[in-house]
Amino acid sequence: MPILVMKFGGTSVADLDRIRNAAEKVRREVERGYDVIVIVSAMSGKTNELVGWVSQTSPLFDAREYDAVVSSGENVTAGLMALTLQEMDIPARSWQGWQVPLKTTSAHSSARIQEIPRANIDQKFAEGMKVAVVAGFQGISDEGRITTLGRGGSDTTAVAFAAAFAAERCDIYTDVDGIYTTDPRITKKARKLEKIAFEEMLELASLGAKVLQTRSVELAMRYKVRLRVLSSFEETDETSGTLVCDEEEIMESKVVSGVAYSRDEAKMTLLSVADRPGIAAAIFGPLAHGGINVDMIVQNVSADGRTDMTFSCPVDQVLRAERAMQEAKERGEINFGELVQDTEVCKVSVVGIGMRSHAGVAAKMFEALKAENINIKVISTSEIKISVLIDRKYMELAVQALHDAFGLDEAA
Ligand code: ADP
Ligand code: ASP
Ligand code: MG
Repeated sequence: MPILVMKFGGTSVADLDRIRNAAEKVRREVERGYDVIVIVSAMSGKTNELVGWVSQTSPLFDAREYDAVVSSGENVTAGLMALTLQEMDIPARSWQGWQVPLKTTSAHSSARIQEIPRANIDQKFAEGMKVAVVAGFQGISDEGRITTLGRGGSDTTAVAFAAAFAAERCDIYTDVDGIYTTDPRITKKARKLEKIAFEEMLELASLGAKVLQTRSVELAMRYKVRLRVLSSFEETDETSGTLVCDEEEIMESKVVSGVAYSRDEAKMTLLSVADRPGIAAAIFGPLAHGGINVDMIVQNVSADGRTDMTFSCPVDQVLRAERAMQEAKERGEINFGELVQDTEVCKVSVVGIGMRSHAGVAAKMFEALKAENINIKVISTSEIKISVLIDRKYMELAVQALHDAFGLDEAA
């Protein structure tokens, strides 16, 4: 039997009615002749609630226990989905990550999938089971501890299963009907794309477009998984949604194809650091060791042998970053005057493979932000994206201004 992977995100399994609605979609695929692997997220809001409970109990929590707690939301929906399918007379059972076993690294809260042995699930398919329901987002480490794959990780579970089982397609059912030029919740002018290149989706995802987890796009690209995003609330068929595919498959070409944002960023500046060889290593080593995802970095011109070093990181890592810096200072590895924090910033980025061959994108971006009187705090660029750090209160405005400036509401 051909295999299909269907993933349902949090809003698609938010209550029993929605689980039933998702199960109907699964039934249709079973009737078309597929064996289906269903990956489920936790009910919407559940993971946030669990994360909140962990932080309230222990602000600098043990990541192994964080994973034990936050993975639990998916266990509930996996069981409920299997029961719902059984009530429809479809042979189904649930699997938690460790039962598969979905093996991961032991990088708790952001573990990577290492292996998905097929034997257990294949055996059940051979015995007549039609649907394997797997709890997304979770796995097990070599040490036998429960791990999670980072927020949004069920997308990655889905693509990894599609690769491991050579599925015909990996369908990601969510609360929007495809991938848009920007988050359709920020501007009504956002336009749905029929197709998007892996490279572009990879950038958009890593710059904050949470419609797909970055790692899921990486895996789909590497293992040539046919990856599609579509709505769980509408009637859908083989042509619905947005296909993530190779660049060559896409006719439409714009210099900029999307705008992404990351709302909860922080900017930290170490004032008056000695400007000497090895200072960057002395600062960013302990940050890496502390698990801080440092993003943008700026080192000022130095005066009298001292300089300021600025970096950005997710706002919920500020406490850990601060601790890592204070400890490095106490150990005498670095010396700085003050640690200044700005926790009210966000990152807005424009992405497009067309940038490789077009000049002037940065100038156009800065012009559009100037017209809205938005001050840029940090800039970073790569081959196919430009990002700016700005005050969070201007985020929506900046996204809309850039979407307009690059004509993204119009078809190419
Ligand atoms: P799920 O719970 O199904 O995994 P997510 O909330 O993780 O859903 O992702 C879907 C959301 O991603 C949408 O509701 C939308 O607000 C957001 N999003 C951000 N950027 C985009 C984009 N470019 N296209 C579509 N949706 C986007
Ligand atoms: N429930 C997890 C989260 O909210 C994983 C997912 O939904 O993909 O991050
Ligand atoms: Mg998601």
